[in-house]
Amino acid sequence: MVALLAALPVWSCASMPRDSSARTAHVKLDPDQLSPAHLALFQSTLDHLEPMIAEKKRDGTANLLIWKQLYQPLTPQERAFVEAFRALRAEPLGATSHFFGRPQTEPDLVPVGAQAIVKPDGPSTLDPQYLPRRVHQAYETMMEAMQQDLGTKLLVESGYRSHAYQLYLFLHYMPNHNYSIRETNRHVALPGYSEHGAPQRQAIDFINAQGINGEDHPEEFEALPEYTWLQTNAPRFGFFLSYPRGNTQNTAFEPWHWHFEAKN
Ligand SMILES: [Zn+2]
Repeated sequence: MVALLAALPVWSCASMPRDSSARTAHVKLDPDQLSPAHLALFQSTLDHLEPMIAEKKRDGTANLLIWKQLYQPLTPQERAFVEAFRALRAEPLGATSHFFGRPQTEPDLVPVGAQAIVKPDGPSTLDPQYLPRRVHQAYETMMEAMQQDLGTKLLVESGYRSHAYQLYLFLHYMPNHNYSIRETNRHVALPGYSEHGAPQRQAIDFINAQGINGEDHPEEFEALPEYTWLQTNAPRFGFFLSYPRGNTQNTAFEPWHWHFEAKN
């Protein structure tokens, strides 16, 4: 199956989602550099998405975004453009990340609850997060143990993310990677390839109580006592580091990203 998918060019429409509109022209995306016309389309797409996303963040539901909501603010041309991204497969991009597929049933999500951090410039609260029920339970149990050992615990900066929100994030981060789909894919998963959208292998991005998440400097998170503690203890609570240094998935080192594996 993987070999078959790998043979498809990344812009192939063969893998277009079934509900994509037949009325819209196929969009060929250059995986290494968007064309000038696509750059303009990219910008207008993001401009139309940002206010809707900001609203969803305000009401705490951004992570639960559905496709219909993602498409709602877009022109037909922008929608076709976004659908071309939705149809991208990671395999031809040089990443060997696993395709987790689409959840067949609605995940049993529970809210993580209010989370506050204190950065040097003051206190702030994290965006609302959700986790599958049993992952949330395992996380709580693990943090009780960390609190006993270290006197502090890690918070959930990012838990469950819907596939539609995952695609928004991919677009959002593309400017940081020179508008290269191939390079962005090393840092942000395409929908279906993220452990954040795979409840059977749910990932958590941790952040510490001082707001250190390693996003721009992974070594900062790697240097935390909380990270050392996770390396020793997380597996007995069912959590595992997904992307260590030099991982074979060609994914950037992510010391904050741990996924859950049920013991049974
Ligand atoms: Zn992550």
